Amino acid sequence: MLKQRPFLIETLTAIGLIVAPFVLPHLGFAPNTVNRILVWGLFGLGFDILFGFTGLLSFGQSAFYGTGGFVAAYLLTRAGFGNVLGALIIGMIAAAATGYLVGLIALRRTGIYFAMITVAIAQVFFFVEFNPLSDFTGGENGLPGVPTPSFNLGFTTIHFSNGWSLYQFIALCYLVGVIIALRIVRSPVGAILSAIRDNPLRATAVGHNIHGYKLTAFVIAAAYAGFAGGLLGVLQAFMPPDAFTFETSGQLVMQTAIGGRGTLFGPLVGAAVWLFLQDFLQAALGLGAAWKLVLGVVFVLLVCFLRGGIVGGIADLYRLASGKRKRTEAETEQEAADAAATQQPAPAPMQAKEVEHPAYSGPILKATSLTKRYGGLVANSDIDFSVNQGELRGIIGPNGAGKSTFFKMLTCEIAPTSGRIVFEGRDITGLKVTEVCQLGLTKSYQVNQLFTGLTVRQNLTIAALAELRGKFRLDLFRKLSGVKGLTEQVEHTLALVNLTRRADTPVSELAYGEKRRLEIGLALATSPRLLLLDEPLAGMSPRERVETVKLLKSIARGRTMIIIDHDMDSLFELVERVTVLQEGRVLVSGTPEEIKTNAAVQEAYLGGVHGEIAA
Ligand code: ADP
Repeated sequence: MLKQRPFLIETLTAIGLIVAPFVLPHLGFAPNTVNRILVWGLFGLGFDILFGFTGLLSFGQSAFYGTGGFVAAYLLTRAGFGNVLGALIIGMIAAAATGYLVGLIALRRTGIYFAMITVAIAQVFFFVEFNPLSDFTGGENGLPGVPTPSFNLGFTTIHFSNGWSLYQFIALCYLVGVIIALRIVRSPVGAILSAIRDNPLRATAVGHNIHGYKLTAFVIAAAYAGFAGGLLGVLQAFMPPDAFTFETSGQLVMQTAIGGRGTLFGPLVGAAVWLFLQDFLQAALGLGAAWKLVLGVVFVLLVCFLRGGIVGGIADLYRLASGKRKRTEAETEQEAADAAATQQPAPAPMQAKEVEHPAYSGPILKATSLTKRYGGLVANSDIDFSVNQGELRGIIGPNGAGKSTFFKMLTCEIAPTSGRIVFEGRDITGLKVTEVCQLGLTKSYQVNQLFTGLTVRQNLTIAALAELRGKFRLDLFRKLSGVKGLTEQVEHTLALVNLTRRADTPVSELAYGEKRRLEIGLALATSPRLLLLDEPLAGMSPRERVETVKLLKSIARGRTMIIIDHDMDSLFELVERVTVLQEGRVLVSGTPEEIKTNAAVQEAYLGGVHGEIAA
């Protein structure tokens, strides 16, 4: 998520594009090379949204580059369409529509399988362009005679014919591309794309339809590719068939890695390095095809030593310098605040916001005959379980008793083998975890599931967005700050889990106890009416436990919560009733006092955590 002064990057880009024709010739760049770099840069803007921001590595972008390019070139050469910009836009729309269809198939898989599907699909497009569609695409001859743009202003006509004149048109297209891409990555959708890259499982669990957002990123990347493909034809006055080759896709990936993924400008810088080396080594030094050897060494060195690429490296340096400055300022402020605090009484703990309860008055959750089998193993067997509005329920049981499996079924992470789950009177059996979270039921995980590349505030923002915007919304051009109630909800949750002072700290820099609190905060930020906490005290030091129990007591007010934990002293202090699971069945339910003295429970824990329950 880029956070900058408004329009700073846009302004700097515009200035850069204006001065480029005056500076770059002195560095040995010919206008045609600069134009090619811009076309790659525009192609890469969309690809970076897909790869850098969403984490989806596609090797099939040539399919959309070629589609947009050939549709535009066909219109301009064979169909007699005279409007170059119009043809480029139609090519872009055709590529986006193709991207939508391809995305529907490719996004059914993740990771390496997704990448392999994109390779295969690109190969299919290459074949189709060369054979069945060669009447339209010119086959191996491509489509010659693509015109350059000209605009009739009434009193005069502006021609963008070639060289630096054509540069003006391409640079303007690139600037518009940057402005749109920046709007997208700064929008709520952009924030969610980064969350999907970091932790798709949690992005789903907090209530986002990640398939819809991934498909959106795929279509955006295809649209950029399609427009850039059209520009390639305009630039060369010829639409080359190799736009469709796998090499085009591979070059885009490498250029993005060299320049820096997740930076938007990485692909442009990567293309500049690539084309400069190509021109310089091949022509000036006469290395011929061996220039790729040098490029290979540069690539390996960059990937090994500058993992964020060139732009990422520069951004890290800038952050390091400004971070040091900010830390010094913050330390001074902190010292002043600490000095003031010693003279004032401690602030009252943050109170939980009252949770709205719907008109429904029966048990908030009712599970009937819930069973989960893994092959021959029965993890949960015939569980009947009911929780009332506003109740605080504890679940205990020895390891392997089936507690986590039970929670996973209640939040619809896994489907029960048989049985029924009713939440607020509605049968939720078989729903998806996203839908259940949207209905107001979510959990915090036993093992932290955070968005590790983001800050604490950004993490909570992702969760709050799911509640405020629903599971899918295409507000691509809305600012994050424009989402009503977002800031308040995030600030409130920060205070609730006592992380306000760590709001802008990256998750990777948090202490373990803070990460556990953020884990609970992610669930809380979705404003659940029923909150499940799976071992919230797991792995904490005694001091962190005391703090977290205090925190749980404060968030428990006005909420319905079910808590699994092994720390029975803490749990019994918190909850009103306890359900004991053993070997996948409910052994007994009762008040903490009843459970402590129950002979069957003592028996179940003999040899387990007996000491704790006797305490
Ligand atoms: P608890 O949380 O009480 O320690 P779990 O719900 O994690 O217990 O596990 C209950 C039983 O189900 C265990 O025997 C465990 O090995 C088994 N189990 C849990 N998840 C799976 C799975 N995905 N595949 C097969 N067995 C599983």
